[in-house]
Amino acid sequence: MNSKEWQAAFEVIATLQQVGFEAYVVGGAVRDTLLGKAVNDVDVATSALPLEVKPLFATTVDVGIEHGTVLIVHPLAPVEVTTFRVDGEYTDHRRPEQVQFVRELREDLARRDFTINAMALKPDGTVIDYFNGQQDLQQQVIRAVGNAKERFAEDALRMLRAVRFTAQLGFTVAPDTKQAMVQHAQDLQFVAIERVKQELDKMLVGKHVTAAIALMQETSIADVLPGVWHAQKWFGFIPRTVVEGWAYMLHFNRTQLELMQQYRLTNKEKRAVKQLLLAFDALVERGFTRTDYYTFDEATLVGAVHMARHFTSAGVSEQEVLAHKRALPIQSRQELAVNGNDLQEWRKEKPGKWLQQALATIERAVVYGEVENTKQHIRSWYCNDNNER
Ligand code: ATP
Ligand code: MG
Repeated sequence: MNSKEWQAAFEVIATLQQVGFEAYVVGGAVRDTLLGKAVNDVDVATSALPLEVKPLFATTVDVGIEHGTVLIVHPLAPVEVTTFRVDGEYTDHRRPEQVQFVRELREDLARRDFTINAMALKPDGTVIDYFNGQQDLQQQVIRAVGNAKERFAEDALRMLRAVRFTAQLGFTVAPDTKQAMVQHAQDLQFVAIERVKQELDKMLVGKHVTAAIALMQETSIADVLPGVWHAQKWFGFIPRTVVEGWAYMLHFNRTQLELMQQYRLTNKEKRAVKQLLLAFDALVERGFTRTDYYTFDEATLVGAVHMARHFTSAGVSEQEVLAHKRALPIQSRQELAVNGNDLQEWRKEKPGKWLQQALATIERAVVYGEVENTKQHIRSWYCNDNNER
């Protein structure tokens, strides 16, 4: 538990209470605290309207004021404060644009997705739990608040959130909630892909990802999400990063590039996934060469080892791979003792295609230990011993 965040949230709550508003810690922070887990964000819900919240604090940011959310810039940690609200009309199984502010905590908790996420906590430690969230936490059950079918018909993403919480917590989904998922799986196609990706990212690095994938198959959610059904070959692999997760999932697909496009991976993620899959193939097919150690970065090499270990029992360890990489004479071309200017001077030639080729040849020779990385050694190697270059 990050005590700075809690202290900031409790002080914000105290400020709101002093002027007569209600305020509580809500959502994931309550759930994770009761589970004894580390908390990400300590979110606060209040009866005060955004325009009533703002004047009470020195610095605030309107991060989502139309949805009732104001960020309080507290000196200890920023705190998100959201006015009690219920959602407006749902169309197309997507979250509504409009929300309606309310003054009752109970209404706010009732619009939340699962009982374990629908509790409120007072600074004195009292838990307000209208929907038996504590019991479900104890019994490790993910259960929709109210009528599961209605809740999933309103916002289809909630089904994928159930999958994601399965991955993170290892809980099982309550029978009626699961049945509603089977019935409404198709509605997921209407949900914005950015929201889908956000939940998949969290699912992929959950300790119980294998159970989550099985749940997706059981409920046919896997059929609605392109590329995911291939993951039936998900033999219990637990990715350690989001990039490893996507690489492992896409490894089973022929249309990797399209899928990365479709799920809107960032350019950085796309690059990292592609590198990881290249490194993985290299390792599995022939083992790493010095060129591999040189060209792939540490995260990629280690990720490939982690993935490969899943398919073959033997192989190098992560420590060995890192040791090999770190023992290379140079880590990048910038570390070469010579540069293009040196070469031009030696050959008395204008820059041209030859220059890049020559640098690449020298770089390779240095990486492979054929020549020492000093200007002198490289010069004599390049100019005398290797005139043909
Ligand atoms: P995490 O620790 O991953 O942030 P979280 O439970 O805090 O988990 P958030 O996505 O941050 O999840 O949402 C905060 C809270 O808002 C949830 O605990 C839940 O009460 C509510 N919530 C979020 N998304 C939905 C949704 N689609 N439908 C209903 N309630 C939701
Ligand atoms: Mg959260």
